[in-house]
Amino acid sequence: MTSVSRLKAKLPTPLVSLANLAYNYWWSWTEERVSLFSTIDPAQWQACGHNPVALLESVSSERLWQVAEDPHYLNRLRHLTSQFEAYRRVGQGPIATVATAAEAPSEARSGPPLNFDRPVAYFCIEFGLHESLPIYAGGLGVLAGDSLKSASDLGVPMVGVGLLYRQGYFHQHLNRSGWQEEHYTHCEVNHLPMELVRDEFGQPVTIKLDIRRRPVRVQVWRVQVGRSQLYLLDTDRSDNDPLDRRITSQLYGGNPETRLAQALVLGIGGVRMLYALDIEPMVYHLNGSHGAFALLEVAQRDLRYSEADFGAIAAQVRQHSVFTTHSPVSAASNVFAADLIESFLGGYWPQLGLSREDFLALGTRRPDDPWDLFSMTVLALRLSGKANGVSHRHGEICREMWQALYPDCDVSQVPIGAITNGVHAATWTAPLMADLYRQHLNQGGVTPFADSDRWAGVAAIPDEQLWQRHSLLKERLVAYARDRVRTARHSRGEAADEIAAVDNLLDPQVLTLGFGRRFSPYKRGELLFSDLHRAIRILAHPRRPIQIVFAGKANPADDEGKRIIQRLMEWCRHPALRDRVAFIENYDMAVAKLLLAGVDVWLNHPRRPEASGTSGQKVALNGGLNCATLDGWWAEAYRAGGAGQVANGWVIGKANPAEDPDSQNRQDADSLYDLLEHHIAPVYYQRDRAGLPRQWIAMMKASIKTCAPYYNSDRMVTEYLTQMYALSPEPIAVGPSS
Ligand SMILES: *Cc1c(COP(=O)(O)O)cnc(C)c1O
Repeated sequence: MTSVSRLKAKLPTPLVSLANLAYNYWWSWTEERVSLFSTIDPAQWQACGHNPVALLESVSSERLWQVAEDPHYLNRLRHLTSQFEAYRRVGQGPIATVATAAEAPSEARSGPPLNFDRPVAYFCIEFGLHESLPIYAGGLGVLAGDSLKSASDLGVPMVGVGLLYRQGYFHQHLNRSGWQEEHYTHCEVNHLPMELVRDEFGQPVTIKLDIRRRPVRVQVWRVQVGRSQLYLLDTDRSDNDPLDRRITSQLYGGNPETRLAQALVLGIGGVRMLYALDIEPMVYHLNGSHGAFALLEVAQRDLRYSEADFGAIAAQVRQHSVFTTHSPVSAASNVFAADLIESFLGGYWPQLGLSREDFLALGTRRPDDPWDLFSMTVLALRLSGKANGVSHRHGEICREMWQALYPDCDVSQVPIGAITNGVHAATWTAPLMADLYRQHLNQGGVTPFADSDRWAGVAAIPDEQLWQRHSLLKERLVAYARDRVRTARHSRGEAADEIAAVDNLLDPQVLTLGFGRRFSPYKRGELLFSDLHRAIRILAHPRRPIQIVFAGKANPADDEGKRIIQRLMEWCRHPALRDRVAFIENYDMAVAKLLLAGVDVWLNHPRRPEASGTSGQKVALNGGLNCATLDGWWAEAYRAGGAGQVANGWVIGKANPAEDPDSQNRQDADSLYDLLEHHIAPVYYQRDRAGLPRQWIAMMKASIKTCAPYYNSDRMVTEYLTQMYALSPEPIAVGPSS
């Protein structure tokens, strides 16, 4: 019996269709997502971490029967169920649009028609689909999740390949001295919305691979993401050695050995799993380099049926492999010492017909340098037919960074392109805003998100309505932040007056800044407090006050990052700032949805350069404004005002800042203070007789209009499809068109 049918058996007949919805994350990007499951039992919904399967399994049958007799609920459920069924009918809806776009002759596209019978296999070490599945840490994973969702919406067949971390990513808890503590909880896999993949005899499908010269058995879970599937590999089986059972237990939790073992399970295990399930991908897409061993395994399979040598086979592999490279910081950590590689893969390279030297050379920048480490990024670049960075700036930086790998190329010819990241609009637009957009922009039925004509219509949204919805979202954020801070203070056993003080924390009328991302020194999370006196003067201004909400985790090994959080916690208690600065613990997708939708201004000021950044795109979809360094996606999206144009946000510092980090900090902090004091606060507080900040609202509209149609993942997946997946000058495989 499958998990879905077990759940169906438990539900009252009128609610049976809830089981199918609960087992497909599609519900999480519908506009019913807030109420569909929470209506059943709001407290239990919170307690289950917004996991619908756990909710339905734990709620009493009396309560389920009450719901089953509520005609209003049943109506909504019927409506949603029929929407879901229509959505799942492959070949309908937007797929036609994209397929035609991909088939159309275009400069960007070369190669054969795309073969839609075979999926894109999308490898990533983390996937951020929803807060209830804690197998993501941040931007990389959320990008992967958003890609699967858009592929599903567009009808692009895609299967994700990742790892199931039973302990997930850590929960952040700040102790009384503001120091981050990491807690891992064990997730109950049998109550997650996923299914163990079984063969025709009901036995779990397992694949085997050798790690540390010992066989490891890997089982597979399937998560439904609309029409996409995500396969998660899991070594936690009783027939594995206890050490091997823990390979997939924590995301980014382990030492180099565990990380290498994870890379083997993801890459080699992932390809074996696809073959075991009879899935023959059209393209292998590595999102980040962790899955790069996949391409070796593809080569290894091809070699078995061929007389050719590794070099010739590698050339074939390149015809259907794509690599997206991310932050240079993660690239630096994703390297392994040669003897570690040898001890894990010493038995593998003979199967590729390679010597030790040849194998190690695949992952080193300078093959003749014995001290060079084995880099997953280098391996991925060597075996991928196409590679890209995640914004145009980032593409340039990558070309410079990796030029050494292409000695025959001038820097401009290094074959690394750029596709700027985007976000899944239906996931990241608050239903309250989505509803407003639907009312005013949706004449003419379903249009793809990436349609700028449609977005030009924001001009027609009445100012009052836009401002009112934004204000509601801000009030909701303030209430949520108070709630979370109160709970945190309780759990730290703080004094009653500290807890009571939370009632005055933040004010929905006050200009609200937000900063949410990993606390790592290069992101400069405390730039605002570089000059404490100036910060206080600006935040505690008598007529034009400003408040800020922080959220974010530091990597467990990053003490510098943890010290930044600790200092921010001190500012939260500073007598002049205590009502104006809030820190929400445990940043995750649930916190992100509320924070990003509720702020007036989103700050982003990493030390330059950085890859892309995506949270500012989510803010723009909800009507918030960006104030950021001219870098990553913002370097492309920013529009200055003037000549009849309204600016869509602000830029911190100079485009080409001082190289030296201290001067860069000083320049950028100065610029941030100047913007807040002289540009941002005055516009926000300038109201007309109706109490509306007209100029601010004009900027909100400019931001929505310029960002929404482009910085979304429908546009991004379409670009991957036409520029990256349409790879090969020769047919990849026998498709209907060849
Ligand atoms: C979007 C998102 C990120 C990535 O944000 P960046 O701006 O790219 O750093 C990280 N964490 C969560 C929870 C997110 O939703």
